[in-house]
Amino acid sequence: MITPNNVREAALKVEEENHRFRSFLKTHADEEELDQQFLSLHKELFASYDCSKCRNCCRSYDVSLENEEVSTIAAAKGLTPDAFCKQFLSEGLLGYEMKKPCPFLREDGQCEVEFCKPSECAAYPYTDRPGRMGSLLNIIASAEVCPVVYEMLERLKDTYHFRKQY
Ligand code: SF4
Ligand code: SF4
Repeated sequence: MITPNNVREAALKVEEENHRFRSFLKTHADEEELDQQFLSLHKELFASYDCSKCRNCCRSYDVSLENEEVSTIAAAKGLTPDAFCKQFLSEGLLGYEMKKPCPFLREDGQCEVEFCKPSECAAYPYTDRPGRMGSLLNIIASAEVCPVVYEMLERLKDTYHFRKQY
């Protein structure tokens, strides 16, 4: 697996190839089978990957929170929602966002609010969700951040015999 520090550079090198692979999948792959391939890689790779050694996603993305999530995390921190917002959130285009870098990312790579972290954090990189064919642009973008997603795309190119043909 590529290291978290090297993933962006490596993904940029294959960015064009990744876009050709996306076009290839759109015309050659079955949508449900592709979802199954992603799901199976997601389970296999994350089962043995220690995200606390990476945390690129926590440093890269603006995390939006639902009002309910604000209340839950505020309560976990012993704060009122208002005090929590002032201290930890900023107003983004789509509502409240976690300040960057995320104030809950500890130096040891653990998430201070792991048990109640926002749904966006819990869902990332979404590779276990259906509808991956329609999200391939996002997946290609995630390959610049997430070593596991980078690995998924490289493996899928072999699975679909992409390199032999293109
Ligand atoms: S809340 Fe936790 S998982 Fe989400 S960005 Fe912050 S440290 Fe990462
Ligand atoms: S989900 Fe991906 S980017 Fe986020 S910590 Fe895990 S391996 Fe790193």
